[in-house]
Amino acid sequence: MDRRSFLLTPPALAISAAGLPSNLLAAPAAIHSHTTLLPRRGTGPRIVVAGGGWGGMTAARFLRQHIPEADVVLLERNPTFWSGPMSNKWLIDIVNTDFVNRDMLSPANRYGYTLINTTVNGIEREKKLVLTTHGTIDYDYLILSGGIRDAYEAWFGNDKYAAEYTRRHFPNAYIPNAEMFALKRKFRDFKGGTVVMTLPPPPHRCPPSPYERACLIAWHFKTNNIPGKIIILDPKPKIAPIGEGYRAAFQELYPDIITHVPNAGVKEVDPFNKRIKTAAGDFDFDHAILMPPHQAADIVWYAGLIGKRPDGKPTGWADIHPRFFTARDDDDVYVVGDSMGTISDQFGHYPKSAHVAHAIGKIVAKNIAERVAGKEVVPVLPDNLCYMMVNADPQEEISVVFEYEVDSTGRVLQTQIDMDVRSPDLVAKDFAWIKSRFDDFL
Ligand SMILES: Cc1cc2nc3c(=O)[nH]c(=O)nc-3n(C[C@H](O)[C@H](O)[C@H](O)COP(=O)(O)OP(=O)(O)OC[C@H]3O[C@@H](n4cnc5c(N)ncnc54)[C@H](O)[C@@H]3O)c2cc1C
Repeated sequence: MDRRSFLLTPPALAISAAGLPSNLLAAPAAIHSHTTLLPRRGTGPRIVVAGGGWGGMTAARFLRQHIPEADVVLLERNPTFWSGPMSNKWLIDIVNTDFVNRDMLSPANRYGYTLINTTVNGIEREKKLVLTTHGTIDYDYLILSGGIRDAYEAWFGNDKYAAEYTRRHFPNAYIPNAEMFALKRKFRDFKGGTVVMTLPPPPHRCPPSPYERACLIAWHFKTNNIPGKIIILDPKPKIAPIGEGYRAAFQELYPDIITHVPNAGVKEVDPFNKRIKTAAGDFDFDHAILMPPHQAADIVWYAGLIGKRPDGKPTGWADIHPRFFTARDDDDVYVVGDSMGTISDQFGHYPKSAHVAHAIGKIVAKNIAERVAGKEVVPVLPDNLCYMMVNADPQEEISVVFEYEVDSTGRVLQTQIDMDVRSPDLVAKDFAWIKSRFDDFL
């Protein structure tokens, strides 16, 4: 199916014959200028990084370090960087806006890559071209690090009005954009009532972080005597990861505020009448944080690199080589961060965390440098850890660590260690962790 036939796909279909959600159909050709966005510079390869978040900014910085002659171009639609980690703490002013929202030009200048603020709206892999709202750009290697998209069509089919209404009125702030400010303001102005929070089905971005958000909003209610209740609608049978730590925090710190409802997969959302039907019953709400299922970012769909299930339906995530992070059918395209698909039949995906996105960004930069130098590419495994704040006064956190190894058959295996006892020591470790990461790429 060529690009033109995508455009002609009937809008009534939520999923096109090629498995592409209809709201991801290629943008009208008129938007693209056919001029080249930027002339090449340097004597080395041009490496385009699409998406300047945790994974993309890390990759751009280390590509320049490993391959000084490379022409590295980072394409990012937002004018500034937004960090997911610490954004829950920012909601209740434990860190200020300057901590989570950073200038991107200084790192681009410091590390010597080119930053272009533009939106990627097409990828023509056969021509090695990225299409953006400002023009086209060619590449030798392409890194896709666009994070996630909110798959509202899972709830609303092709009803774009309902999806847009939900996004505007019940923002979830899981993607770096204006929703972050909107959510913070909603809770600052909140006078009381029932808040419902839907969790996406796994795999989704940062699995422990919605529970952290519930704890910190509950702490805000408790501290400011706001008569609010939070109902967490969880499609999983139990809280995970750090289930014991969260269960203790809910019961001991917020017994009258947080209710966790397991097996509550969403069946129907009516944002206009503020009602949700789930497998565990129906819920009315005054306010809500509505998270639909997560999928790989739009740019992976544009590139035609979404995996397929045995029944031919899209997995929603990039089909990649589990050790080299190249697209399954295109060695010159890499996928970094939350967009990555299945790694192992033991645990599925790497946790969709900033820690992993940063680690893979570094690994992919090294892998490309080895290829450019004509050396053998040595596969490297990431690790993962996440610190989650459950109490803001005194500040206390719980955490989870994931370790990886490869078995004799080449399969990647995961070990998970939950740190369920909340402690102020983990807060200090959390701030040391984020400082060391920010120092790496910001
Ligand atoms: C509330 C919350 C708490 C979290 N806490 C933690 C934590 O404590 N620890 C942890 O490790 N992780 C945490 N995370 C997860 C972490 O934020 C993500 O896993 C991480 O950001 C993934 O990196 P990424 O590069 O894949 O995506 P992102 O960091 O989201 O970057 C993707 C970038 O691509 C850009 N982009 C997308 N599409 C386009 C396009 N078409 N054109 C141009 N640009 C585009 C986006 O604007 C964005 O800047 C948290 C996330 C949230 C929301």
